[in-house]
Amino acid sequence: MTRPMIRAMLWAVAAGLALAAAAVRAQSPLADAHIHYSHDAWDMLPPAEAIKVLRQAGLKKAFVSSSSDQGTQMLYEQAPDLIVPVLRPYRRRGETGTWFHDDSVADMVAGLLAKNTYAGIGEFHLFGENADLPVPRRMVQLAAKHKIFLHAHSDADAIARIFLQDPDARVLWAHSGFDQPAAIAVMLRKYKNLWSDLAFRSDHASDGKVDPEWRRIFMEFPDRFLIGTDTFAPERWYFVIEHAAWSRAWLAGLPKDVGENIAYRNAETLANWALGGDGSTCASGITMSKDGYRLSYGFEPAAIQVGRPFAVRIAVCAPENAPFAGEVRVGAAMPAHGHGMNYKPAVQKTAPGLYYAQGLMLHMRGHWQFNFQLLTETGIVRLGADHQQK
Ligand SMILES: [Zn+2]
Repeated sequence: MTRPMIRAMLWAVAAGLALAAAAVRAQSPLADAHIHYSHDAWDMLPPAEAIKVLRQAGLKKAFVSSSSDQGTQMLYEQAPDLIVPVLRPYRRRGETGTWFHDDSVADMVAGLLAKNTYAGIGEFHLFGENADLPVPRRMVQLAAKHKIFLHAHSDADAIARIFLQDPDARVLWAHSGFDQPAAIAVMLRKYKNLWSDLAFRSDHASDGKVDPEWRRIFMEFPDRFLIGTDTFAPERWYFVIEHAAWSRAWLAGLPKDVGENIAYRNAETLANWALGGDGSTCASGITMSKDGYRLSYGFEPAAIQVGRPFAVRIAVCAPENAPFAGEVRVGAAMPAHGHGMNYKPAVQKTAPGLYYAQGLMLHMRGHWQFNFQLLTETGIVRLGADHQQK
């Protein structure tokens, strides 16, 4: 297919999607754990259109990784409630077979992890004893340091080596290693922190019916499987919606709880664990508390610059460490000057207890105060923090 053809096709998809809007509302929720938005995809399908495709597919969450990471960042900025950012260690297409020998990859990953928010590192391609090379080892250590998962397109041998390096690692096994159900079951039994995605495979179901052998392992491990499309080439974006419909059909043939787990709950569990929506963020970091509520926050970028927009990532726990369910507002003011910011930030809830506020800007140097409001069932809880802007 030529590029203009693909582009025309993708635009037709995006345009035709509006018609399906009503149908989307009736769709059961899904999370797609295997989406890529690499440089050639964003040339053809701009970020706003790509988000439209994901929404029309009725996705609650999409795990996105891209070569380069810029693609993921563009989508995340547009829809932080939908996109679960995963850091792909590739700058361009074609590094799948060389990255594990390249020290600069580990430095790039470390640098981006310090700067942005990610739920995982991957999807990377890694087989056999290559998993024990210094660059992959560093990747495993970085995942542990940042408490995020590894998305590994690997054989069983490489997965075993990763767990040998770090028994507490959390690994999402891309394509379930393209292994047979019996072999996958052996791995899931052995490694409690192993999740398995079903991306780019269709052997588990046909005509809306789950294959009996697969059904057996879905029933044995209802908490461990995730669905995924794998948009490894730009034209694969065309299949995201179709793949979602196909997935809904076979998932409906499983017991309701098991089907819902595979449809989206397992993905949410993994994302919330990494992004802190499980309430664990409230137990660490810079935290303020009042009336049993605890709030922690961080800026993006970490160092605010005068006159430049920035975002605030906020985690809130209700009493007893439960993720907060209400709304959160954030603002900033200069007490000595009696004025606030010139802009009103927009706050989005991205996961249980997690919030992302965009559009803040401090237009002067000096003493500012950040004000957070938690809208609880019984009233507003107010928390403040001083900030010296240089
Ligand atoms: Zn992939």
